[in-house]
Amino acid sequence: MNGQRSPSLAPSGFSNPSSTFSSQIARLETSNSHHLPSPGSPTPTLTSHRTSFSVINEPLPLAKQPLVYWSDRRFWATDIRRDIRADNSWRRESAWQRPFHISFLTILLMFIYSYCVFFSTTSFFVEPLIGIPNLVGWIVFGLAGVSMAGMVLYVTLVEVEASEVRQAGKARNLDFVKTVGVHVIDNGVCGICCVSVPVRTRHCKSCNKCVADFDHHCPYLNTCIAGRNYQGFLVLLSTTVWVSALSMLLSFRVFVALFTERDLFIRTLSSTWHTFGDENSLWVLAGVLICFEGVIALLVFVMSTALAIFHAYLRVLGMTTFEYNTGVRSTSRLQFLDFRRRSSS
Ligand SMILES: [Zn+2]
Ligand SMILES: [Zn+2]
Repeated sequence: MNGQRSPSLAPSGFSNPSSTFSSQIARLETSNSHHLPSPGSPTPTLTSHRTSFSVINEPLPLAKQPLVYWSDRRFWATDIRRDIRADNSWRRESAWQRPFHISFLTILLMFIYSYCVFFSTTSFFVEPLIGIPNLVGWIVFGLAGVSMAGMVLYVTLVEVEASEVRQAGKARNLDFVKTVGVHVIDNGVCGICCVSVPVRTRHCKSCNKCVADFDHHCPYLNTCIAGRNYQGFLVLLSTTVWVSALSMLLSFRVFVALFTERDLFIRTLSSTWHTFGDENSLWVLAGVLICFEGVIALLVFVMSTALAIFHAYLRVLGMTTFEYNTGVRSTSRLQFLDFRRRSSS
């Protein structure tokens, strides 16, 4: 699902590239007079644009989102936007909706690769090199993988949008121009959702929706981390730390054995990789696979540990990531503790 279609009135020439520039100028000139739709009105009107646009009875086109994006400028910068109204009608409903951040896809591929290499190669060295039955390694990593996959699904699928917005059910102000460095929420009212929202709510520009108890938008999970999924995010983070640490140590040990215990290495793999006849090819291929597994585990371990330490530090400070990054503390210590308590319930 690429986005939601807004059954609205569209300005003429909306989909005509040649009129995009003049259309955007008109929108910029009127961006300070964000006309809010009347309560219960299914569509916003174009009162302030009547001198610039004629009204036609065609539905808005879907926001054409690419499959992959790698810069949040796509969502924030007005100079590369094509159809502001179509973009404003779009909101991210879950992390599994395009566009996918390149970091999200990279982490998914790394996760799948690491588990494939572990179960096909590295796990067979647990018993000969460490002295623990291979079955223990399969059970530990298997359970860790299932729990991580479950936490990823939970964190990415839970609805983090502010309940005030869903309950109000108001039409969006599609003409709002998102600008770098300018908050969409002004004086407690969101300029796009047209709803009064609580103090810790932020309109995430990447997801294009108001998020309750906003902490940060995570490109690695392609979703917002906020009150409702914050505890799940911490569990996922801590699980990632120890699983990547184990994977890093094991692959490092096997990589050393590649050179110091070549006979044991060949013998162990030959008993499982039956179809691989040539010993040298087997040695090179397994070595490359395990080397990449170790590098990935090292990278993930460093990143997840740094992130876990940072969130522990935020807990001591009593701040969210957003407050830390902006230097604006919107909550008192007591409110912050209340946020953590509610997010865990
Ligand atoms: Zn909003
Ligand atoms: Zn977001």
